[in-house]
Parts: sequence; structure tokens; C-alpha cells
Amino acid sequence: MYDKSHHPPVVLAIGGHDPGGGAGIQADIEAIAANGCHAATALTCLTIQDSCNVSQLLPIDVSILKDQINATLGDCRVAAVKIGLVGSLPAAQAIVDILRHHSTIPVVFDPVLAAGGGSELADQDLIDCLRQTLIPLCRLLTPNQPEAVRLAGSNGVRDYDIMASRLLELGAESVLITGSHDPDGGSEIIHRLYQPSRPPTLSRWQRLAGEYHGSGCTLTSAIAARMATGEALPAAVEQGLAYSWSAVAQGFRTGRCQAIPERLGPIRRGHPHDGG
Ligand code: PLP
Repeated sequence: MYDKSHHPPVVLAIGGHDPGGGAGIQADIEAIAANGCHAATALTCLTIQDSCNVSQLLPIDVSILKDQINATLGDCRVAAVKIGLVGSLPAAQAIVDILRHHSTIPVVFDPVLAAGGGSELADQDLIDCLRQTLIPLCRLLTPNQPEAVRLAGSNGVRDYDIMASRLLELGAESVLITGSHDPDGGSEIIHRLYQPSRPPTLSRWQRLAGEYHGSGCTLTSAIAARMATGEALPAAVEQGLAYSWSAVAQGFRTGRCQAIPERLGPIRRGHPHDGG
């Protein structure tokens, strides 16, 4: 068990930069810190986006991406890796090449394939590579419903159990299919955690009004941080869901379109200048 008197566990977040601070690496840093860990980061890409949509994705040179990841893995004891927007085929290949040599570190992967505003962030070659090489390295894969449909390759089949069994067959150790993008969801969001040889665990939450940018990053980073502190997977998932639901419930709007989850609530509430 980790010795808290020494330093907080280190979570390496690999993902893209959102200049508005709603999603991506900034979301990861905030959620990881709010869940008791220290975030180390490696950027896969820069993006040009506002609160409405992503207009450009600019991959970082792959040798620089590799050097960033190796700098942290060679220097720190990393307790979990969280992966978000991969953004290019060479980036996916580089991440896989490195993580194959660190098979004891749990990997949590939020497969970001499209922006909330609709822009595509992954082509079919990248999706094939994720399916064949990155998903088999995952301790936990966290697709939303549209991402699960594309990654499962189930020819448009939207049955959660079928999609999950295909994703487990690809080699993920567990799969959390989040329900926030489920068009049939109604007033309730149901998240489903699948682990081999066990019935799925369903987690039901009240659907909150509005659209939020970075809610997937928030959830997955919180889960990775909780796993890094030694929580077992089902507890880390449930606590991560509770944290991200509260962050969305307290979310705020800085731009014209999607709002931002209040990830720093637990930290800001203890701050004298938070106005609350
Ligand atoms: N990371 C980056 C850099 C992004 O631009 C996006 C979406 O546009 C995401 C992650 C995923 O955001 P969300 O958590 O809203 O799915």
C-alpha cells in the first residue's frame, strides 16, 4: 500500500490540449489532483477549439511524445496511466510500444473518437490500431455508447452486453460503457461495468440538463487516480462516477456552448477566495 506521508501517487495522463481548459490534459490534471494524486502529463496533440467545437487537431511530433512519456516513466514510480485523445496513428503506435514494457502499471483508456461538438477525432486506421493494440493493454476501457459501437465493430448493434463482450474479447480487462450519450436514456443515466465471468454492475444517476465539455476526461481521470491510491476497480469506478456527477452538477459556463464540470470543487471549497 502507498505511503501517503511520502508523496501522492503519480498518475501519468496522456492526451491532448484544449486551450479553453474544459477537456483534455487540463481536465485530467484537475480531476487527478482532486482525487488525491499528482498528475504527470504527456501531450499527444494540440487542438484549436472553443466551447462549441474542435476546428483543428495538431499532432505532436511522435519522437517528442515518446520522450515525454519515457521521461516520466524513467524517473517516477507511476501508479496508473490514463489515456485520452490519442489523435493520430503514430501516437497510438508509440504509446503501445512504450506501455508494452510497463505491463504492471494499470492503464485506463477513455477512447475519445469525436468532439462533443461533432468533429471527428479518429479515422478508421486509428480505430483499427486502438482495437488491435491499445485495448488489449487496458485494465479499464471507458467508451460512451457511440464510441462502444465504433470500437466493438458490431455492425451497428447497440446492445450493451454484446458490445461489451466484443470489447472484452479484444483484450480489455474491464469495460465501463457510460450512458450519458445514450439516446434512449430518458431522465436516468445508466453506466454499465463489465468484467469477465461476472454479471454487469449497473450504476444509475439522475440525468443533468445541458452539455458538458470534458466530462469523460473528468470521470476517467478520477477513476485512474482512485486506482492509483489502491482502491479496487469497482470502488474506484463508483467513487469516480460520484465525483464526476457532482462536478457536472456544479459545472459552470465560460463560453457560448458547452459548460465545464467543476472539477476543483473539493479543493476550491476549502479556499478563502472561492466566494462560497
Ligand atoms: N481531449 C481533448 C483534447 C478534446 O478536445 C476532447 C473533446 O473535444 C476530449 C478530450 C474529450 O472530451 P469529453 O470528455 O467531453 O468527451
